[in-house]
Amino acid sequence: MSELILVTGGAGFIGSHTCVALVAAGYTPVILDNLGNSDVRVLRRLATITGKTIEFIEGDVRDRALLDRLFREHAIAAVMHFAGLKAVGDSVADPLHYYDNNVNGTLVLAAAMRAAGVKTLIFSSSATVYGEPESSPIPESAPCRPESPYGHSKRMVEQMLADLHVAQPDWRIALLRYFNPVGAHQSGLIGEHPQGKPNNLMPYVCQVAVGLRDRLAVHGGDYPTPDGTGVRDYVHVMDLAEGHVAALSHAALAPGLVTVNLGTGQGASVLDVVKAFELASGQPIAYDIGPRRAGDVPAYWGDPSLAHSTLRWKARRGLQQMCEDSWRWQKSNPKGYGN
Ligand code: NAD
Ligand code: UDP
Repeated sequence: MSELILVTGGAGFIGSHTCVALVAAGYTPVILDNLGNSDVRVLRRLATITGKTIEFIEGDVRDRALLDRLFREHAIAAVMHFAGLKAVGDSVADPLHYYDNNVNGTLVLAAAMRAAGVKTLIFSSSATVYGEPESSPIPESAPCRPESPYGHSKRMVEQMLADLHVAQPDWRIALLRYFNPVGAHQSGLIGEHPQGKPNNLMPYVCQVAVGLRDRLAVHGGDYPTPDGTGVRDYVHVMDLAEGHVAALSHAALAPGLVTVNLGTGQGASVLDVVKAFELASGQPIAYDIGPRRAGDVPAYWGDPSLAHSTLRWKARRGLQQMCEDSWRWQKSNPKGYGN
């Protein structure tokens, strides 16, 4: 029988794509999401892609009574925990809100899992836990020096789960440190649609290409990088989604805790992304090179070799495909799930 996987935050960008990968791998996802940063219409799109109706529970991971009921009524085999807040700037403005959602949310979830005897947890961490790295590629052993309340919240959860694993070694936990997730499912039916003005590069470029915004402001052209613009490790969201399935398969082998980077191991500059997107979309991307953005690291990318050896996972999709898939989603859904 197909195993039930609770996907918190499953209506969001990465969670929704992971539901597609879970169904493809033979699992049955159950989504718990408070729709704070997502649109319920994603569910119909997921049904079109997967051919399955995915059970959706609207609610908050901090609601212990709801979680207890959920675990009582469903034979959940494992939890993938995406639910959380992710805007670095907002976390600086309202740190308590971030610690409550991200840290307390995971605490309540883990306690409910323990009470229900569910001991497999795949957690969405972030490369932001590294802060400004000494060098790239960054291995998992690099020091963690997060620089924002958001980054601290991810690191605190990692620590909390590591402590839990020491106390109860029969847990199976994967801490997945994502680099820069971009792209969309190749159907163009699901993708990322930030509310308001996008903070991140790829959604901003998409909105310029589709005519929603005039020009991209490139944040800094004087970094010590090959073309002077910031360099990141962009990873296709479907590769990430498959990385979660790989982490689940790995967890099934034996109890343990793994901390693994999910990235391509390759850096791309802002202008590399602009060029690849122009090629993918056939649209010119107007841009101006402006001042650096406060708090930005010039360049970093991950060392994915542990994910290769431990999870048997490797990113397969390159920058061009990331741009093509982002564009397919953006051009057919300029306003997100409302079209
Ligand atoms: P997203 O905002 O699209 O998805 C998160 C989902 O969680 C949303 O649907 C939101 O409504 C839901 N949610 C938030 N708080 C909740 C709560 N308390 N209870 C129930 N549902 C709640 O974000 P995403 O890009 O899909 O990110 C998923 C996870 O991955 C987050 O934890 C994020 O911090 C982490 N992450 C994201 C990135 C990135 O660049 N996108 C990078 C590294 C890590
Ligand atoms: N960036 C940019 N203009 C934008 C948004 C981002 O030039 O409107 C740059 C940013 O300075 C960084 C890269 O694009 O070098 C990736 O930024 P993003 O916010 O997507 O990811 P993060 O900085 O969080 O890794």
